[in-house]
Amino acid sequence: MNGSPRPGVIERYREFLPVGEATPNLTIGEGDTPLIRAESLERRLGVAEVWLKLEGCNPTGSFKDRGLAVAAAKAIEEGAHSFICASTGNTAASAAAFGARSGTPTGVIIPARGVALGKVAQALIYGARVIPIQGSFDDGLTVVRALASRPGVALVNSVNPYRLDGQQTAAFEVVDTLGEAPDELFIPVGNAGNITAYWKGFRAYESAGRSRQLPVMRGFQASGAAPIVEGEPVGNPDTVASAIRIGNPANWERAVQARDESDGTIEAVSDELIVEAYQLLAAEEGIFVELASAASVAGLLHRSRGGEVIGDRVVCVLTGTGLKDPGAAVRHAPKPAEVEANTEAVAEALGWDDL
Ligand SMILES: *Cc1c(COP(=O)(O)O)cnc(C)c1O
Repeated sequence: MNGSPRPGVIERYREFLPVGEATPNLTIGEGDTPLIRAESLERRLGVAEVWLKLEGCNPTGSFKDRGLAVAAAKAIEEGAHSFICASTGNTAASAAAFGARSGTPTGVIIPARGVALGKVAQALIYGARVIPIQGSFDDGLTVVRALASRPGVALVNSVNPYRLDGQQTAAFEVVDTLGEAPDELFIPVGNAGNITAYWKGFRAYESAGRSRQLPVMRGFQASGAAPIVEGEPVGNPDTVASAIRIGNPANWERAVQARDESDGTIEAVSDELIVEAYQLLAAEEGIFVELASAASVAGLLHRSRGGEVIGDRVVCVLTGTGLKDPGAAVRHAPKPAEVEANTEAVAEALGWDDL
């Protein structure tokens, strides 16, 4: 398996990960995602460089694959016979994929309501045991924490430190591509694992002399699910952005630490602004993300409109693909009208009748 032409995160970043000879080189082709310029956003906001990290290009369509690669490999190394997680959908899809790849039975606990159909479909087709519960993500996490005390069961939520070890590889890639850490990093915050992992990654790279500076971390929660911003857990988190619909983040303290150590901020953005960023990314940049992912760009719009000075070079993390939830796109795009099947009618509908 070594020396594959497109190595996964374990092989590429071995020296920065807690892996050794006994760790299986598990990969589904995760990582090495594109970092592209957003010229339309740059013009609109007057920011010198806006870069988008396209984590939706991971094999299951979200950044979760980076963390699951390492968490699953370490669990197998340590003798686990089953994986379990609670999920708003993307962790479930990714855990199910790595479970399938490694032949490890995987249980995924999801809220019975509000999980995007594409994510459930993935978990099912990969063969995970999918258990919808009558409760929230936070309730699910309580259940799986208890179940994970049984021998041989590996909890692969982002409370598992190997998840964050794997996820920090996205920060490594950003620095490897830009040659330096950006001035600011904009990122959605749900369970707060990813903001923690990026900060850990930037710091590790700085200590290793791979970058001279650290970025200012800018995290964004949805205003109906903003416990860190409000300073207390939210009982009934509510937002269109289901992947960040979390009322009591597991990595709360570490996210606050990343914010404070980087002299950064964690702010709330409204669902309206999240939808605006979602539409704008698709229509002006050609990038179709899921609603939660658009929170990073919503945050950039929010700060820019609020008159905040934006750094010269910023990266927005786009955490997952829009294809997971086509229903959301249909709801937030203009509805096409049906016309007769002839050239005139179609030309008229296209607005080309006078061409
Ligand atoms: C998991 C997830 C998030 C939130 O990441 P946290 O580590 O929970 O803060 C955001 N967007 C998408 C698409 C996700 O799957």
